[in-house]
Amino acid sequence: MASREPLTVGKNHSDCWSRVRDRLLDEYGEATFNSWLKNIELDEINGTHVNMSLPTKFLRDWVINNYANRIRQIWCLEDPSVQSIDIHVKEATSEPAATPATLSRANGAAPPMRVKVADTGVDKFDAQDNLSSQLDPRFTFENFVVGKSNELAHAAARRVAEARDNIPFNPLYLYGGVGLGKTHLMHSIGHAISVNCPHKKVLYLSAEKFMYRFIRALRYKDTMNFKDQFRSVDVLMIDDVQFIAGKESTQEEFFHTFNALVDQNHQIIISGDRSPTDLEGMEERMRSRLGWGLVADIHPTDYELRLGILQSKVEQASISIEPRILEFLAHRITSNVRELEGALNRVLAYSDLVGRDVTLESTQEVLRDLLRANDRRITIEEIQKRVAEHFNIRMSDMHSARRARAVARPRQVAMYLAKQLTSRSLPEIGRKFGGRDHTTVMHAVRKIDELREGDVSLSEDIDLLKRMLEN
Ligand code: ADP
Ligand code: MG
Repeated sequence: MASREPLTVGKNHSDCWSRVRDRLLDEYGEATFNSWLKNIELDEINGTHVNMSLPTKFLRDWVINNYANRIRQIWCLEDPSVQSIDIHVKEATSEPAATPATLSRANGAAPPMRVKVADTGVDKFDAQDNLSSQLDPRFTFENFVVGKSNELAHAAARRVAEARDNIPFNPLYLYGGVGLGKTHLMHSIGHAISVNCPHKKVLYLSAEKFMYRFIRALRYKDTMNFKDQFRSVDVLMIDDVQFIAGKESTQEEFFHTFNALVDQNHQIIISGDRSPTDLEGMEERMRSRLGWGLVADIHPTDYELRLGILQSKVEQASISIEPRILEFLAHRITSNVRELEGALNRVLAYSDLVGRDVTLESTQEVLRDLLRANDRRITIEEIQKRVAEHFNIRMSDMHSARRARAVARPRQVAMYLAKQLTSRSLPEIGRKFGGRDHTTVMHAVRKIDELREGDVSLSEDIDLLKRMLEN
């Protein structure tokens, strides 16, 4: 009962699985992959459902809690017919072997993590992974395309990377949504420092890994060694710090490491998915420390940056592809750079597979699911709601006939954003604004474009709204 599989034509499931694994390795890096994901085995694909397994319950629980959603998403990307996944425990321990945790939409509630890792083999996976930095060679400043949305973060990262003895700001805290280049920038800093100041000891790791090491140190009563290792580095980079929110003892330890390094005037670079003040579950003193240095946020990409990134990718790979296809992708895949790259790769892989040039039609066909997902992200209703809140007018004024400037202008802003952020046509947009004519929408779009030229504060308002909506 295998359903249609547009992307796996001529390819069997194990190919698909190996692409899923490649992507996981790509996204999470070697260290995380080797520790948690490497041992996942594909058991079977049953229609829309994928069964996988791991050798121990500990591993299974951890993977379910931390990676299952992403694994499912990647499966769906690689094979759009897949809708749900299970991860079983392969060898029966004390529990029955098959304790599947089915995941379709949300993260399935799995048993809490246990620190009992003695006979799981987890440590073995991690043994070869010492404190040397694990940097992805593709993530360099040279490969990083700078645009309005990331220029501050990029400039700050450069400054830190080029500093010799003076520390420009400590810590550097980079934040932004997923797939916007935080990890890329941190790795770039690592590469640059290893070139500029090869004697410096640089350590990059995810907050998750930090926690994992800490737990292991506690277990082996080896915390002195743990502390020494972390406190002896010149540059410490911790990625995705939000991971340790709510994990009290890890936070405590991190706090001490942090202070010790700052006291010694050693550079710390942290990334998170939100600003320090918004990190719920993080102790107040930690939040305030994180904001001590420079806090630089990376905004969602704009069209020009997306196009620039696509151009740089095809240039690097020496691929020729029609400019209008790149423009199409830059217009339509607005979620984040990771998805944008993934879309481009998929389009290229498809054309490679079928041995035909990439066309706009094949692009649309191959990316059908992704395009829909990106479309779904922002609705006109959301735009209207946000705009109404922002300008302090009633939602009903979005549909009303009132023409007073105080309501008409926000309404025009909402129409303008609807045109920019959704793929709705002018008549469709008009209908959502109390049945207005498409010429009214067109007029609004032009008017706002015109006003933005001269009105900085309106322009900032609109950028802010766009950022909130695209998040
Ligand atoms: P984050 O850590 O913020 O979730 P990543 O740094 O992992 O995001 O970026 C996701 C993908 O997008 C990576 O492959 C990265 O190389 C790419 N990427 C992100 N921003 C840029 C950029 N400005 N220029 C080039 N590639 C980028
Ligand atoms: Mg990252």
